[in-house]
Amino acid sequence: MAGVGRNSKLYSGPTAEAIKRQKGKCSHCNRKFMEMDGVVELHHIDGNHNNWFRLNLVALHRECHQEVHSKRIKDGLDKRAIKA
Ligand SMILES: [Zn+2]
Ligand SMILES: [Zn+2]
Repeated sequence: MAGVGRNSKLYSGPTAEAIKRQKGKCSHCNRKFMEMDGVVELHHIDGNHNNWFRLNLVALHRECHQEVHSKRIKDGLDKRAIKA
């Protein structure tokens, strides 16, 4: 009974932790991360890429990540975090 079935092969550190915290689901579309989805990306909620505080990090599908960013810019919700 030793460690069979853990499939955390690719992800380590903050990404693995975020995935675990989200119970294996994407924080944007709420679907489970599948192997065929490819890369899981980390998103910094406050837009500050130097803020590695774990509650500032969420794991997203690559597509969802892009969507989050384009939406934020469109809606202007993220003004405070955007520093041109
Ligand atoms: Zn997603
Ligand atoms: Zn992001």
